[in-house]
Amino acid sequence: MSIYENVQKIKEQLTDQIIIAATKYVGVNEMQDLLTSGINHFGENRVQSFVEKKAILTDDRIVWHFIGSLQTNKVKKIINDIEYLHSLDRIHLAEAIQLYRKTPLKCFIEVHIGQEETKQGLSIEEVAHFIQELQKYDKIEVVGLMGMASHTTNQEVIYQDFMKLNQLMTFLKQQNYPNMTNHYLSMGMSDDYLIALQAGATHLRLGRILFRNEE
Ligand SMILES: *Cc1c(COP(=O)(O)O)cnc(C)c1O
Repeated sequence: MSIYENVQKIKEQLTDQIIIAATKYVGVNEMQDLLTSGINHFGENRVQSFVEKKAILTDDRIVWHFIGSLQTNKVKKIINDIEYLHSLDRIHLAEAIQLYRKTPLKCFIEVHIGQEETKQGLSIEEVAHFIQELQKYDKIEVVGLMGMASHTTNQEVIYQDFMKLNQLMTFLKQQNYPNMTNHYLSMGMSDDYLIALQAGATHLRLGRILFRNEE
């Protein structure tokens, strides 16, 4: 199957959710194919490949997301060239964004919902306070939450992980934070996006499933 066919198959399962292509696996040619297949949201993980690809892909339909973890000392290199950041999870990073970004940046707060130990993402309990702290940074606009489910084949566990993000969002909505302008849920990857859809995902970050090449 081609990228075009992969995209069509996935789109049949969606209503109005946005597919962000996780493009770390591919080069600019495949990204050009994505664009002609109707995918214009691209998510990169690494600063260097983002810079290289963005220099080549100048089509103004492209909406650039940064979905990987972002080191504070690399913020300057990309921060004015992305439209969304999916991995805001610490005040130090917010400070660096405040310093270098020229206009408010749409940020998803990364939340740790899976079972695995990881340094990335806030715990669920920390998120409300974090959003309040972010009010002092006028270059940060909170638009949603991002999370990754546990690495398991147990569908119920994955669903419950995603529902944690959904329920947290229900709570946050009620707080009416002035710096939270949208309530998007960035969750679901190639192996679990159907579960993420059931749990209310608004943005899917899809990689391998877009690029696979089978009968
Ligand atoms: C690679 C990546 C994805 C997509 O992963 P697939 O399993 O290939 O769909 C989603 N989110 C992040 C942050 C990634 O790095």
